Amino acid sequence: MTALTFHGGVNEIGGNKILLEDQETRLFLDFGMSFSLANHYFDEFMQPRKCNGILDLLEFGLLPNLEGIYRCDYLDHCRLPSEETRSLDGLLLSHAHMDHNAYVHYLRDDIPLYCTQGAKDIMQALDETGSSGTCELISLKESFKTYVNKKGEESKLYGEKAKKPRQYNIVENQFSVGELVVEALPVSHSLEGATAYILHTSAGPVVYTGDFRFHGYKGDETRRFVERAAEVEPVAMICEGTRVNSTQVDSEEHVKEVAKERVEKTNGLVVVNFPVRDTDRMQSFFQVAEQTDRALVINLKQAYLLELFRESGIGTPRIDDDHIRVYIPRKTWGVYKDDRFSEKIQLQDYDYWEREFLDHANAVTAKDISENQDQYIFRCDFFELKELIDVKPEAGSSYIRSVCEPFDVEMELDLKKVENWLSHFGLYPYTHIHASGHLNYDEIRDVVETVQPKALIPVHTQHPEVFKNFHDNVILPTIGVEIAL
Ligand SMILES: [Zn+2]
Ligand SMILES: [Zn+2]
Repeated sequence: MTALTFHGGVNEIGGNKILLEDQETRLFLDFGMSFSLANHYFDEFMQPRKCNGILDLLEFGLLPNLEGIYRCDYLDHCRLPSEETRSLDGLLLSHAHMDHNAYVHYLRDDIPLYCTQGAKDIMQALDETGSSGTCELISLKESFKTYVNKKGEESKLYGEKAKKPRQYNIVENQFSVGELVVEALPVSHSLEGATAYILHTSAGPVVYTGDFRFHGYKGDETRRFVERAAEVEPVAMICEGTRVNSTQVDSEEHVKEVAKERVEKTNGLVVVNFPVRDTDRMQSFFQVAEQTDRALVINLKQAYLLELFRESGIGTPRIDDDHIRVYIPRKTWGVYKDDRFSEKIQLQDYDYWEREFLDHANAVTAKDISENQDQYIFRCDFFELKELIDVKPEAGSSYIRSVCEPFDVEMELDLKKVENWLSHFGLYPYTHIHASGHLNYDEIRDVVETVQPKALIPVHTQHPEVFKNFHDNVILPTIGVEIAL
C-alpha cells in the first residue's frame, strides 16, 4: 500500500505537511506552519500557550492529530497518553522557510530529520538568533522538567542542561529512509539549501518539488532536477503552485541590474531592504556592492548565518570579504565603544551569540557609515529603520525596497510607516524591485509537460484547479484524506 495524506499546504501557500506511507515506511515531507490558518486565530501578541503543549494547535487543526510524532515533554505535561516509540521513519525537509519547517518544534527528538547542510545552517541560525520563543528546530529544549540542585532544592531545568539534539542527516544524492530509496536534487528557490525529492516507492517514483524556480543562482540545478524527474517516469508529482495564476516573468538578474543602476546614480548612502534570510537576494546586493565599489552592510543575524556557512564551506558571500560589513547596533544601554564604561559593561549590551562579532575585522557602527556614506549599501529592515536616526543619510541618498508587495492590511500599514520614515530622511520616492522564489504559470506548465507524471497533485497554492489546464489526471488533495497511489 502506498498513500499520501496532506495535513497542510491545501488551498493555501505554505504549511506543507505531507504524510507518505509505503508498506512499512512512514515519513513526512515538510512539517511547516500554515500562516493563513494560524493568523485566523492567533497573531504576534496572541500566541498558542506553551503550557498547553500541542493542544492549542490541535484545537484549530494547526497540527494533525497523529500518534507517535509529538514531543513527550509536551504530551506528559498535558497528561496526554505517553507514547513509548515514534511512529515515523523520518521527516524530509525541502528548505528552511517557516511554512515548511516551523512545526518541527513540536516533534519528538528521536525522529530522523533529513535536509541539506544549507537548510540545517539556516535552521541553526533561526534557533540561535530568531526572535520567536518557539524555535527548537536543531535541538529540543526539554520543558516542564525539574532537577535537584546542589542545595538539595527542586529547580526548573533550562538552558544547556535541557537541550536534546535532534537527529539530523545531511542529504546528498541518494539515501534511504526506512525501506525507501530517496534522491535529493538541489533546486533554486530564494535561499541556500533548497532541495526537491524523488521517492522510489513500491507503487513507483513520487516527485516532490518543494518550493522552486528557474531563475536565481541555481537555475541549472532546477533544470537538472526536472530532467531527472522526467527520466524516472513518476506515478505522481506533488508540485507547488504559488504563482500558478501569474504569467509575470521574474528574474534575479533583473533585480541586480535595476539595483546596480540605482546605486550608480546615488552620491550618498544607499539603504536597502531585503528579507533577512533570503540568501539569493543577499548575493545579488553583494554583487552590486562589488561592482559599484561599495560594501554591503548586513545585520548580526545575517552575520551569524554567514559564519555558519563559512564553517560548512558553502554559500556566498564570505563574511570576511572586502565588500561585506557587519553592522553593530546600539542595544540596551547603547554603550558599545563608549569608553566611559568598561569592556565588560559594553559586552553586556549584547546576547552571547552577538558578542563574537563585536571585534570582527568587518564590524562597523552608525558613526562609520555616517562618515563615509558613499562607501556603503546599508541593509535596513522595518525594525532597523531606527538606525537611520544615528546614521543620518545625507542629501543624495536613496532607498531600494526589495521585498514582495504587501498582501494584507497589516503589511500595508507597515509599508505606510516605512514611507513616513523614508520621507522624514529624504529617501522618498524609492525604488522597488523584487523577484519571486517561485515558478509562474508557463514554467509550471512546461515542468508538467516535461515530467509527464501519471498523476499531478498541486500543493502550496490558492489556485489548485488551474493545474487541470496542464494535465488530465490532477488529484486535488483534501486535508486529512488519504490518496492511494
Ligand atoms: Zn513555501
Ligand atoms: Zn519557500
